[in-house]
Amino acid sequence: MAGRGDNGPTIGIDLGMTYSCVAVWQQNRAEIIAEDQGNRTTPSCVAFTGSQRFIGTEAKNQMVMNPTNTVFDVKRLIGRRFSDLSVQNDMQLWPFKVIAGIGDKPVIVVQYKGQEKQFAAEEITSMILVKLHEIAESYLGCAVMDAVITVPAYFTDCQREATKIVGVIASLDLMCLINEPTAAAIAYGLEKRSNTEKKVLIFDLGGGTFDVSVLTIDKGIFEVKATAGDAHLGGEDLDNRMVCHVIQELKRKHHKDISGNPNKMRKLKVACERAKRILSSTNNATIEIDNLFEDTNFSLTITRDSFEELNMDLFAKCVETIKKCLKDAKMDKSSIHEVVLVGGSTRIPIVQQLLQEFFNGKQLCKSINPDEAVAYGVAAQAAMVRGEGNEKLNGMLLLDIAPLSIGLELGTGNMNVLIPRNTVIPTKKNRIVSAIPSKPRGSIMVY
Ligand code: AMP
Repeated sequence: MAGRGDNGPTIGIDLGMTYSCVAVWQQNRAEIIAEDQGNRTTPSCVAFTGSQRFIGTEAKNQMVMNPTNTVFDVKRLIGRRFSDLSVQNDMQLWPFKVIAGIGDKPVIVVQYKGQEKQFAAEEITSMILVKLHEIAESYLGCAVMDAVITVPAYFTDCQREATKIVGVIASLDLMCLINEPTAAAIAYGLEKRSNTEKKVLIFDLGGGTFDVSVLTIDKGIFEVKATAGDAHLGGEDLDNRMVCHVIQELKRKHHKDISGNPNKMRKLKVACERAKRILSSTNNATIEIDNLFEDTNFSLTITRDSFEELNMDLFAKCVETIKKCLKDAKMDKSSIHEVVLVGGSTRIPIVQQLLQEFFNGKQLCKSINPDEAVAYGVAAQAAMVRGEGNEKLNGMLLLDIAPLSIGLELGTGNMNVLIPRNTVIPTKKNRIVSAIPSKPRGSIMVY
């Protein structure tokens, strides 16, 4: 396989909040690389014990026994401040400890080899990245230096910068970052080739983030028209709603409060996530936990209806986000040719139902694997970046946009927008600002 000089092949990494996936483009297609235990995705989870560190599947498997030293959801901390409301809220449900570090940076505290250790979110994420890098090198049988990594389209500039730092810590040469729904669109475009222009809406609801992108795909040119989303909405939030519901039920029926017990909370979270997945194919699921309190087993049946009721505002928010994205793209919903489902949470029947209703009964595109589409697309992008000119990727061009407006904070405290959201990137803007005479010129570049 052709590599970039002696840097080996460039790998594509879908660095997800709950699961991550690594892929490489070879023999004219993206190859998803399975981890040591044969799984095609790797839990984005790191655990510390008295004697060792686990990453991925092994870390997730020992989570219930070692909740306070098993770190997950760390993408929710990347590029954020400790005092951010979202961090403060998330911390209520995490069994591991997070404290405020220098400059209000969140710091994760664990016990490792008998000592207290502190890690930045970037360091934990880099451990996951190193694991994915090793998985790729062991599969490919050669050294790999370069990677392209995906980020949620709605990640802020701070979160993108923090992701680049993760690449540096993991000693990977980061060729570029690409937005998750854009990567999924590439996967879709390669799978469903067409000679006419297609307007495609990518609906990406994963474990922790939600993105909607509207693109046109025309003879290998992928042009993102608009992006909207919520960098803090995904399957984890649905699990957490169920966890809170069960906590209330326990208080009401048994006068017990388990919210301060990390071990019990972890068991409950695992049981709720399992029940949520079951509810995607049946109407009832039982949340069962052995020895929840005083050697008593706990069991509660939850119906699909009550699960939907618990989360209806979040599902409704998804539909509102689609409306906003279409408005920004200046497109009517009737002009969309294909609605593509990406991310594990799009398996939830009510999500599909609401989408189909919004698009007046249109059939949704479920033919690309929702767990692997982003990795597939980023592997293709990685091959394009390194200039591998095989016929399938030949002539492909990606025109992406800045998802959020970027500007300068002026003396009034208001943001003076320099680059409005949905501007095609790369772009460069200059503006003269005169509030501080010694610093007359503002200049911003976005890549
Ligand atoms: P992703 O980030 O795309 O890997 O999505 C992971 C999220 O998808 C997690 O929150 C999972 O609980 C959720 N998920 C996966 N399969 C299902 C399913 N069958 N029903 C509901 N949620 C699911």
